[in-house]
Amino acid sequence: MCPPATLRHAVAGASARHCFVPIELGNIKLVALSDGDFDLPAERLLIGERPGHVSHSLARAGLPAVVRSAVNAFLIEMGEALVLVDAGAGDLQGPGLGRLEIALRTAGYGPEKVDTVLLTHLHPDHVGGIARAGHMVFPAATVWADAREAAFWRDGARKALVDESVRATFDGANASIEPYVAADHFRTFAPGDEPVPGIHAVALEGHTAGHAGFSMESGEGRLIVCGDVLHVAPLQLAEPRLAIRYDSEPSRASDARERLLAEAAERGDWLAAAHAPFPGVGRVRREGKGYAWMPWVSHG
Ligand SMILES: [Zn+2]
Repeated sequence: MCPPATLRHAVAGASARHCFVPIELGNIKLVALSDGDFDLPAERLLIGERPGHVSHSLARAGLPAVVRSAVNAFLIEMGEALVLVDAGAGDLQGPGLGRLEIALRTAGYGPEKVDTVLLTHLHPDHVGGIARAGHMVFPAATVWADAREAAFWRDGARKALVDESVRATFDGANASIEPYVAADHFRTFAPGDEPVPGIHAVALEGHTAGHAGFSMESGEGRLIVCGDVLHVAPLQLAEPRLAIRYDSEPSRASDARERLLAEAAERGDWLAAAHAPFPGVGRVRREGKGYAWMPWVSHG
């Protein structure tokens, strides 16, 4: 049985009864998994170019100052490989999140079957779900992150220098990956590497030091699991330079968003986004100075 909070936010294309949505894209079997949702104070956190910019954009999109935001993860079956991209928040962010394991089991996959976990970055809503109480949730899996991302969050000297409010993010990242490091199940990649045959790491840094996407060919177009390129999708698609205070380097994060959206619109790529409305899968097309989201819909 899926957690009730998720049910209210299921969208067209997803059965209202499901916290998982199986999606076939060519030869890729993708399962979108809901970790839950949370309140995002968009008006306060988005970085406008002038006073009133963000509130005006929110009003134009028909959105309130605080928006309900999804946390999605994606399971990919490619041949023999069972790959999870991101793992939700686990116990790190309160009871509204941390439902990925239930969603995965409801979809018919035991966590012990997952052989690879690819992390877009080490923020708590992406890494927290890989461990609980110091134990591996995915005991058979090798966990991968960008080398610069891992180095950033594992740097104790850097942690000592940051604001108290950011230290919990360091602690959460390290507590999550530590069981995998201890079991020699943790690896790092560089942009362009292929941590799993057929899946390439794509540089999307700016949100964090080594924020990455994962790209794969489906035979019917490319799929890019793109992490936190979009936090408030309707606004950041319409205005790709609109960054958020979660970005460690807002301007580079906006560069990465512009690059990804331009290429995805040009090539007709599928995107799977961690915070787009569940199930978070769609294509983009150019519209005005920005882009419009064309969500995947079930034809079943
Ligand atoms: Zn996130």
